[in-house]
Amino acid sequence: MLKFRALLVLVFCAVGVSAQAADLKVQQVTDGIYALVGPHEQRNATNFANNATFGVVVTDEGVLLVDPGGSYLGAAQIDAAIKTITDKPVKIVINSGGQDHRWLGNGYFKAKGAHIIASADAVKDHKARLNDYFFMLTNLMGKEALKGTDAVYADETFDKELDLNFGGHRFEIRHVGSAHTLGDSFIWMPDTGVMFTGDIVYVERMLGTGPAGNTANWIDVFETMADYNPKFIVPGHGPVTDVRRATLETYDYLVYLRTMIGRIIENGGPIAEAVAIDQSPFKHLEVFDEISKRNAQAVFMQMEFE
Ligand SMILES: [Zn+2]
Repeated sequence: MLKFRALLVLVFCAVGVSAQAADLKVQQVTDGIYALVGPHEQRNATNFANNATFGVVVTDEGVLLVDPGGSYLGAAQIDAAIKTITDKPVKIVINSGGQDHRWLGNGYFKAKGAHIIASADAVKDHKARLNDYFFMLTNLMGKEALKGTDAVYADETFDKELDLNFGGHRFEIRHVGSAHTLGDSFIWMPDTGVMFTGDIVYVERMLGTGPAGNTANWIDVFETMADYNPKFIVPGHGPVTDVRRATLETYDYLVYLRTMIGRIIENGGPIAEAVAIDQSPFKHLEVFDEISKRNAQAVFMQMEFE
């Protein structure tokens, strides 16, 4: 009986979308621009795979949303959070990368008439890993929390760059190479100094080296992004930040891993030595215990073949 009750509570939580809107923290970046900051925990039945940060730009023409959440109910949660800011509808959705939370909420916003934009490489990645996403999410969240989630791909794709004028703003969407995933893009707003980076920038929590598996490229992409000298960064994970903190918590960590592990490889050392490197300078980052050794292992395996 106790078990049954626990299950009931879980199912109830999974469908209580509006009650869950509080899980996304609304953070104002500047006039009309907001970040919706999700938790750092693993995907589960109550966060609907929204364990990431999303960008919202409110204009006279409607809302532009950077990343629609990791599921249909995740998208509904984002929509509920947007409704606490404005009554205007979401007109444009940009998928900044390949991860679930960057695109699996597309169907929700598409059904409400939004136009969806992504790099061609991101869409290729969405298609290639579709079964993996559903397998992983079913395991982590359960079927009920995934209800309504379908593979809905971008309406408009671009190879390297797309400039968009919407609501009196200019959006420069740039895919300069793979970073965390193969098709990552950043979105630059020159008139406001705001940069949306998706999974190119992690702050407050430790990054995962990611499915693209190319940390050298990620470092290059970060440098290109940082060259814009943005005033505000809406990262892929964590609160609104700036270039200084993004550098300390994403860029410096990638460089540190590659430097330490590069030395081990040069000396013909084994993978166990890489896994054991001292990562304590980054111990303050959340999910350090869960992810740091896995990162070292992945970087070793990548660098071995460079
Ligand atoms: Zn992510």
